[in-house]
Amino acid sequence: MMLGDNYIKVMENIKAACKRAGRDESEVTLISVSKTKPVSDIEEVYKAGSRDFGENKVQEILEKTPVLPDDINWHMIGHLQTNKVKQVIDKTVLIHSVDSLHLAKEIEKQAAKKDIIVNILLEVNVAKEDSKFGLYDNESVYELAEECAKMPHLKVQGLMTIAPYTDNPDSNRPYFKKLKELSVDIMRKNIDNISMDVLSMGMTGDYEVAIEEGATMVRVGTGIFGERNYAI
Ligand SMILES: *Cc1c(COP(=O)(O)O)cnc(C)c1O
Repeated sequence: MMLGDNYIKVMENIKAACKRAGRDESEVTLISVSKTKPVSDIEEVYKAGSRDFGENKVQEILEKTPVLPDDINWHMIGHLQTNKVKQVIDKTVLIHSVDSLHLAKEIEKQAAKKDIIVNILLEVNVAKEDSKFGLYDNESVYELAEECAKMPHLKVQGLMTIAPYTDNPDSNRPYFKKLKELSVDIMRKNIDNISMDVLSMGMTGDYEVAIEEGATMVRVGTGIFGERNYAI
């Protein structure tokens, strides 16, 4: 199947999931996760209508952004090292993976130098998997949100999680519920300068369940671009 058709199929599934959940489809943004994939593949999906693409490596963002259309919204969804912050913050619309004060401070510092405001999500390891990045408990999410609120060049827009890999999407439902609850808790704290509008959760295996539980951004790679080959 053509990649454009895959994208359209995923969009239809999103629409159906929104309908089931009584949500408006305009509440959900599909991020086409193009990591490891060539520019020609991205162009196909772009032609089908996608304007939001996700990458997990700074190097790939730096290579791809100059040769692709300017109206693409690039999302940094992977673990971000502090020494790469400077290169990427003015190339992306949203950094999904902020999980430490150290990283937040570096983004603030570099954003101040460029005189820009950087939109971020706090990454939460809701399933508490050892192998994953992300804040481990609710207390540390509250604390980091409060610290980020004091940084004038950072804008927390919400939360992100990577749920466990599974063949049974329903088994991730509790984790999506937890992330939603946590965002409501944070909203209730009424911290100045913090928004909880974005919930980035759900990937190829479980995005429909994530939408039913309140996702506003889903990150779909394999379901659009096919399997990734890390060997090349
Ligand atoms: C690779 C990746 C995705 C997409 O995963 P698929 O299972 O291929 O849809 C989503 N989010 C993050 C953070 C990723 O690294």
